Amino acid sequence: MRPVLRFAPSPNGELHLGHALSAIIGFEMARGLGGRFLVRIEDIDTGRTRETFVEGILEDLAWLGLTWEQPVLRQSEHFPEYAAAGARLKAMGVLYPCFATRAEILAAAKPGAIDPDGAPLYPRLHRHLQPVEVADRKGRGEPFALRLDMARAIAAARYKLGGAPLTFTEFSPSGTREDGRTVEVEAHPERWGDAVVVRKDVPSSYHLAVVVDDARQGVTHVTRGRDLYAATDLHRLLQVLLGLPEPLYHHHRLLTDGEGRKLSKSARDTSLRSLRQAGISPAEIRRRIGL
Ligand code: GLU
Repeated sequence: MRPVLRFAPSPNGELHLGHALSAIIGFEMARGLGGRFLVRIEDIDTGRTRETFVEGILEDLAWLGLTWEQPVLRQSEHFPEYAAAGARLKAMGVLYPCFATRAEILAAAKPGAIDPDGAPLYPRLHRHLQPVEVADRKGRGEPFALRLDMARAIAAARYKLGGAPLTFTEFSPSGTREDGRTVEVEAHPERWGDAVVVRKDVPSSYHLAVVVDDARQGVTHVTRGRDLYAATDLHRLLQVLLGLPEPLYHHHRLLTDGEGRKLSKSARDTSLRSLRQAGISPAEIRRRIGL
């Protein structure tokens, strides 16, 4: 089977140097492995998606010299599939509805208890709502998210794994110092607490859409930045629960600004579009990102 790799940007801003690094790493690794390369537009956040960003992303990638298979998958066109995966999890009894607002969660959160993204750990506010209250609130049209009951989800995954630990495999690309080495990493999804799997506004979350699409597209090697290292724990949990295949993972280095901060989409000086307009060449971009 030919390896499949992907670059999966979210079109809520312009690509910057960090994205160039990520896209080129995926593209070149696909080439090195004799595999296929896909671009996937992760636009479930319909409120923040702009068509001009989608167009700009594809333009920037082509300008960098990358090529990818058509058609480009757009997550906003696949909500029914994510909803179906959410419904399967719900039928397993590992999800529960949560009506809590951001303010309610903040007010109830334990100070200092944070998830790997630095957000307050969900204080399990609505874990034990009575079915009659759930029905009542749903009946009134109150929006709700579906959250993982983490303890139950981990127990269900353990059962599916026959008691084996939940892990993922991190690989190092060939040609690097670690040359093709793989390392088994133990996953600790409990760090995320009762994470949202289906959002209030759209019938998916980033995590659910990613695992459904990686499986649908036959992605064998997930390459992405270290900022998503902890998210892999959650992705493995969902893959096991949904019976989806396990890809290999490579979390690459992140680029930082002069102050050591991760590059952000608002940092105009590193936007590929501005650099391109300023006459910087793709070769110079590669030099700047250390390739
Ligand atoms: N869409 C995500 C982002 O732009 C990346 C998802 C992934 O590579 O798994 O941060």
